[in-house]
Amino acid sequence: MKITFMGGTGMVTGSSYLVETEHCTFLLDYGLYQGGKEEEALNLEETTFNPAEIDFVILSHAHIDHSGRLPLLVKQGYTGPIYTTKPTADLSEIMLLDSAKIQEQDVEWENKRRKRSGKPTIEPLYTTPDAERALRHFVPQFYNTQVYPHETVRLRFQDAGHILGSAIVELWITESEGTMKLVFSGDLGMPDKPIIRDPSYIESADYLLMESTYGNTVHESQTEAFTRLMQIITETAHKNGTVVIPAFSVGRTQELIYEMNEWYENAHLPEEQRIPVYVDSPMATRATEAFCQNSIFYDDEAQALIRSGDNPFAFQNLHFTKDVEESKMLHKNNFPRVIISASGMATAGRVRHHLKHNLWRENSAVVFVGYQAEGTLGRILLDGTDEVKLFGEEIAVKAHIENVDGFSGHADQPMLLDWVDHFQRKPKKVFLVHGEADEMMPLADKLRERYDGMEVLTPRRFETVELRVPKDSVIRQPDPETLKKELEMQYEQVLADMGGIRSIREEVAKELTPVEYEAMRQKLMQIQADIMDVKMLIGD
Ligand SMILES: [Zn+2]
Repeated sequence: MKITFMGGTGMVTGSSYLVETEHCTFLLDYGLYQGGKEEEALNLEETTFNPAEIDFVILSHAHIDHSGRLPLLVKQGYTGPIYTTKPTADLSEIMLLDSAKIQEQDVEWENKRRKRSGKPTIEPLYTTPDAERALRHFVPQFYNTQVYPHETVRLRFQDAGHILGSAIVELWITESEGTMKLVFSGDLGMPDKPIIRDPSYIESADYLLMESTYGNTVHESQTEAFTRLMQIITETAHKNGTVVIPAFSVGRTQELIYEMNEWYENAHLPEEQRIPVYVDSPMATRATEAFCQNSIFYDDEAQALIRSGDNPFAFQNLHFTKDVEESKMLHKNNFPRVIISASGMATAGRVRHHLKHNLWRENSAVVFVGYQAEGTLGRILLDGTDEVKLFGEEIAVKAHIENVDGFSGHADQPMLLDWVDHFQRKPKKVFLVHGEADEMMPLADKLRERYDGMEVLTPRRFETVELRVPKDSVIRQPDPETLKKELEMQYEQVLADMGGIRSIREEVAKELTPVEYEAMRQKLMQIQADIMDVKMLIGD
């Protein structure tokens, strides 16, 4: 088997790894390069393989740096399936359509300029129809079940605890010499995060591709981070200022709402402390809806909260802005408020408008709650600067700039080491990916120090490694008992999914307007149609 490291090497974006076995060829992730102009130019580079010859794709999670080039792959001739988890399939729909729109808008703007200067126009990386076509290739799976994308490849997803739907990919690959096990960590999360489950431990691997985003960092605890965030909000409110929180629309925004819901609903706060919180990102609004539809994948705590009747994504002082007009209104009058807006690294989106209107204000605050890649406006602000350029205007930076990194969706060094510790049979070779050098290299040293005989490598872009079935390989085909257990688990999962239908009982019982009535009727008709399909499937 050969692995070629196509992206996510010594950097945190462009995740993609090409695996060629004796019998088939597949991709692990196919993400966009993000950051500054230099990184983005990599998206336009010719592929070194023929997309039409790829047999299948496995997607670890919905983040655009892992999924964002899939529409391009389909545009270039890829026709096979894209295996991923069900929540990832749902969230990818939002992310890829949004990404296509950004590509189209960027090019439209650029072409206007080019036309004026008499230069030839350019094509977007991909369009909305390309993204729609890519989405039709998705084959959603549940966690902890096995699927054979090829007769010589067995695949199983385990929860990576990074965002809803995120997966660790386990692969059993059979070649003439026998079977070897390859594990791809995807992006690993921290334990005890709101809503999502803790990262799963993996029993064994021959070869491991592991992320290293925070390979040299120890995060503050999430509870401390959240307390600090609420402190900044209270202090800024006293100064009559605005708190701008650039946050990823999918994942981080829902986590913040979830935590704030708990804070505002339980704390018996005086009325004046319930300052308005605006979520100003159409994509975050849609993603929050997708979260609601995937509650069976939540951790126990979040599921219990829902059973108790609390909607974790709603509290009295929370508002989702409906349109651009309402978004603009947020700059008009001066009262303390919190604005959660995307993008998370302030590279695009409405948050740039909010930064333009608040960076120069001494009484405002900008709080970063996620990773800021090199070259992004987020990183520039965090590193410290007196002035930035936004929409062609010089904006002074007077606002209080804060980094609250305890929310990180990525495992820190102690967590990454703990995760490797839990392999009962340790990988022979570990390839560190998805990390910048100053985070990745110290982790490589730590791993070498800790595990005698473990080879730890930090591959360069386009480097190819050849991996063979280890001589002492103990992997065999799964025994019938394991298979039976898995079928039983899957059956239980089907029953649990059906139970989800009951959750709309309350909606049905509500007082409805004619429009809501029609929407509800359509929803029920869709369910009836789907049940008919199920009946056909089981021959009922
Ligand atoms: Zn991610």
